Amino acid sequence: MIYLDNAATTWPKPDSVYQAADNCLRTMGANPGRGGHRMARAASMLLYETREALADLFGIEDANQLVFTHNATDAISMAVFGIINPGDTLVTTAMEHNAVSRSVRIAQSRGANVYIIPCTPAGQLDMNAMAAAIRQKPKAVIMSHASNVTGTIMPVAEVGELTQQFGVTLVVDAAQTAGVEEIDVNGMGIDLLAFSGHKGLLGPQGTGGLYVRETVAVKPLRAGGTGSLSESDIQPEFMPDRLESGTPNTPGIAGLKAGIEFILKTGREAIQARELALTQQLLAGLNSIPAVRVYGLPGIEGRTAVVSFTVEGKDCGQLAHVLDRDFGIACRSGLHCAPWAHQVLGTLKTGTVRFSPGYFNTAEEIGQAVAAVREYTAREG
Ligand code: PMP
Repeated sequence: MIYLDNAATTWPKPDSVYQAADNCLRTMGANPGRGGHRMARAASMLLYETREALADLFGIEDANQLVFTHNATDAISMAVFGIINPGDTLVTTAMEHNAVSRSVRIAQSRGANVYIIPCTPAGQLDMNAMAAAIRQKPKAVIMSHASNVTGTIMPVAEVGELTQQFGVTLVVDAAQTAGVEEIDVNGMGIDLLAFSGHKGLLGPQGTGGLYVRETVAVKPLRAGGTGSLSESDIQPEFMPDRLESGTPNTPGIAGLKAGIEFILKTGREAIQARELALTQQLLAGLNSIPAVRVYGLPGIEGRTAVVSFTVEGKDCGQLAHVLDRDFGIACRSGLHCAPWAHQVLGTLKTGTVRFSPGYFNTAEEIGQAVAAVREYTAREG
């Protein structure tokens, strides 16, 4: 199979990720932070080390400000419902994934005011409109670091400079960028960072995290056992326990740690460079097919490894089905859980086909994928 669906979840994972998850289940399969015995202590140590590794990766000074979540969606819900109250104003962008847009709509239904900042047809933020909105001092801005439909990278650092100046909380959805793009929470002015563990960080599904700056009060979405202050029926105030109740996904986190170690060993920049080289090849190949229309920015500048396209006269769902059936190519078609972004692109009715290369794809695979699209476009009907 030629797997080109890495924007949904990366596959394959490095071998060390499979081994670490397996080893964890076999040798550290106890409940971390809940027992004093050696296996529970080993599991606690694993969580501690993974938290530290993630904190290092994102420039977070106190690793305890980072909590493990099920995925980026979970982290975004925790952020939005944890900071927004009725009457607050929340600013977001027109390119958001449903993880953000649906959370924002629920906040709105509970009495928050919502402003959606427009984007260009290539998915670029209208920075003037964003700056004007921030000057009105909303409670928070929530935005993605990169679109999962066009790969367009958002000017988070520029927004962060303004949100810091006007005392606005900046929440960033880094589902598409964590592990691949550089992220520095202080340098970029990020107050809350939500990320997936199973995409660019190369960990298993069911992993993700949320970083919370010390100065931001986040109400817990979940309450329950933390292994700490067990005598009290009140949720602990301190982090990470405040936001991290219940048994964690320890085997997943073991795999995530191995994924981070793979990134550190290989070099984040080397991974990014490889993905972008494959993306450039893909863009050139798809653009050379007259019936294909590629969305987003023209090149790899300002883009992550995501390419959405349509083929004139062909149905996207059918194209993705044939690519799988006849060519063994795994990709995604439709709206990619991001109807707002498709509204911006003008593809809300048709959707797009999305190829998202990952570090383990090869130039040969990209060549085969382009050839498959070329062959399909030439077919009748
Ligand atoms: N935001 C964006 C931009 C995404 O691409 C995704 C995943 N498609 C999510 C949020 C949700 O991530 P997760 O699957 O980890 O919940």
